[in-house]
Amino acid sequence: MFKFLKRLRSSKQESTSQAEPELVAEPPVVAEQAASPVIESPVKPLEPAKVPLPEPEVHAEAAEPEPEPVAKAPEPASAAASEVEPELVAVELPKRSLGTGIRSLFSENFDVDDLEDILILADFGVETAEEITNQLKSVAQKQGASSDAELRLLLKDLLVERLSRNDSSLNLDDGKLPYVILVVGVNGAGKTTTIGKLARWLKDGDWEVVLGAADTFRAAAVEQLATWAERSGARLVKPAKEGADPAAVAYQTVELAIQAEADIAIIDTAGRLQNKKDLMDELGKIRRAVEKQAKISEVLLVIDATNGQNAMSQAKAFAEVAEVTGIVMTKLDGTAKGGILYALQKELDLPIKLVGVGEQVNDFAFFSPEEFAKGLVARK
Ligand code: GDP
Ligand code: MG
Repeated sequence: MFKFLKRLRSSKQESTSQAEPELVAEPPVVAEQAASPVIESPVKPLEPAKVPLPEPEVHAEAAEPEPEPVAKAPEPASAAASEVEPELVAVELPKRSLGTGIRSLFSENFDVDDLEDILILADFGVETAEEITNQLKSVAQKQGASSDAELRLLLKDLLVERLSRNDSSLNLDDGKLPYVILVVGVNGAGKTTTIGKLARWLKDGDWEVVLGAADTFRAAAVEQLATWAERSGARLVKPAKEGADPAAVAYQTVELAIQAEADIAIIDTAGRLQNKKDLMDELGKIRRAVEKQAKISEVLLVIDATNGQNAMSQAKAFAEVAEVTGIVMTKLDGTAKGGILYALQKELDLPIKLVGVGEQVNDFAFFSPEEFAKGLVARK
């Protein structure tokens, strides 16, 4: 459905890298190494990042590339140069479908007179609920549609039209490798789970994936990402200890991705929203650390659909400070208030890119207005 550009690997390489269990075993080692220096500069590793690496001892060869990029013969070690190098190939990733993860708006037969209330209850917003209801009534009248099935179909089409945007697919097609995705959002929204699902999906599509555990404030958070990395066979960069600087972890994640010629680096962040300034400072530091070596392809804001109106205020706060490029709406399986998705997309003018419909590794999909709307109008 979507075309993505990734690194072309010989089939021999591909099968080796897929089959080899060491690849999975290896990452933690690299991760430890890459991360350990982070402890050594707990104060402000961002400055060290300016002088690229805080840890020459660990990656002796790695430390060289950044200081004198141009000296590095064929391709300067700068992000820009390593992007030009690889031979690229357009691929389609395995399709994920929303399946039956979306709850229907209707528990009974479709009744136009109830529609406005139902849409309001589902968090579409009062104004939108009224608009959609009026629109449906007028189209139904014009077309002489009155049966349950006809009305559901008409509503589905109206919703699809309102939900469709042309910027809903992930920005993984400019060929500037490694792609870097930052994942932001409050604690519990589903960031780490989403990253795990994404990593597995990309690995299934034969992408080389590096994950960065820049949510450094809880050891459990790092462990959770480590588990997902192991499951998916992605490499992992983690902080050497709790509370290490997230920006340093982000830096090293991208660094490893470049060294390992990975296609993509996905960085998990902490979800603390104590105040806007702290959040902005922290995300700003992470951004700058990444941008020393690569372009940020996506900042995905993860929002828990079950949070209703709270989701809206969270999303606004993050959108103000995090230069968000797309929304991941999780836990749509757990709510009958799927309308929040529509309200968010409209209010923030940001595309919903992915949706989560469960806790298992395959329980996510690209956002598809068609599938989503079908789920909403489905007969129970
Ligand atoms: P984080 O703090 O933002 O990293 O959130 P986590 O990834 O740790 O997720 C918090 C909880 O939400 C975990 O128990 C996940 O299993 C659960 N979760 C995440 N995504 C979904 C989803 O799409 N559906 C459901 N039902 N649960 C989810
Ligand atoms: Mg997490």
